[in-house]
Amino acid sequence: MLALMRAPSKYVQGPDALLELYDHVKDLGTSILFICSKSGYKAARPKIEKSFAGKNASIKFEIFGGISSVGEIAKMQKIAKENKVGVICAIGGGSAIDTAKATAYYEGLPVVIIPTVCATDAPCTGLSVIYNDDGSFAKYIFYPKNPDAVIVDSSIIVKAPVRFLVSGMGDALGTYFEARMCQKTNSPSLENGGITKSAMALCKLCYNTLLEDGFKAKKSAELGILTPAVEAIIEANTYLSGVGADNGGLATSHSVYNGFTALEECEKTMHGELVAFGTVVQLVLEDAPMEEIEEVMDFCVSVGLPVTLKEVGVTDPSRVMIAAEKACASGESIHNMLGDVTPEQLYAAVLAADALGKDYIGE
Ligand SMILES: [Zn+2]
Repeated sequence: MLALMRAPSKYVQGPDALLELYDHVKDLGTSILFICSKSGYKAARPKIEKSFAGKNASIKFEIFGGISSVGEIAKMQKIAKENKVGVICAIGGGSAIDTAKATAYYEGLPVVIIPTVCATDAPCTGLSVIYNDDGSFAKYIFYPKNPDAVIVDSSIIVKAPVRFLVSGMGDALGTYFEARMCQKTNSPSLENGGITKSAMALCKLCYNTLLEDGFKAKKSAELGILTPAVEAIIEANTYLSGVGADNGGLATSHSVYNGFTALEECEKTMHGELVAFGTVVQLVLEDAPMEEIEEVMDFCVSVGLPVTLKEVGVTDPSRVMIAAEKACASGESIHNMLGDVTPEQLYAAVLAADALGKDYIGE
């Protein structure tokens, strides 16, 4: 397996970054279709129109249906064709981003990503999660390249509900530990390549940034104010976590997320919240040193990420076996663990993680 490293061609981040959008995308094309979530549209449109005012360019905004489904992508492709657009641009969270990436890929157009929340690491990765029109999971699409540009307006991100930023930290928390396991077991990255030193450095920096700036960032974001810590966490959640996971690979944390989506009591639990709890589960499976487990739990508790089953929505531990079986389905990244993991072993690790979490928060 050859070592491989991929990333977006351009990454821009800062206060009012969208006021400079035209300058950052004009070389890709000047006829742009913006595929927007409702809240993303509201937050971003005024700045984008300002940036494009008086420029020789045509822009069109479409609010998409809310999930990255096969039908929604077909609808956006039709709009792109009818309007002869040259660039697809996503505005919003993970679903808007996945819809835009797929539309651009099928139409052979460049794609620009404008995240307006920081809840997952979707903006920088080279893949999409696609659903059927009834909301059930359909497939992953792995693209030949990562987005052409990712433009992050931190003034917009910091005004979004804080739970999104915290959940993004949970998604970012898995990155280093999952990549470390893939490296140990010589498993391929999400881009199906060998893991580079560069990827590992980004993953480690991602984790260190969370420890250094996570709590400070949360406190500022609660007030809606931008500080260096908030900027650091936006970069960790978006670039370091996305490029890190893409090139570093996944293991238990993300399989725990996939498994727990089988439980309806976890419906309201966010992706990153389950990934955070899954990271403690992975450390239990690895039999990691207690200092490391405590460091991770300490971080989770400080920013408000879950460390117990109750906090992810599960009050009946006998339900965990359903999640464990789904998490260990064939093709799941949990099989990148050393010596592999059975549903019974994962079940035990989840209960052990829950016990450690309860003890930690004094329950
Ligand atoms: Zn994730």
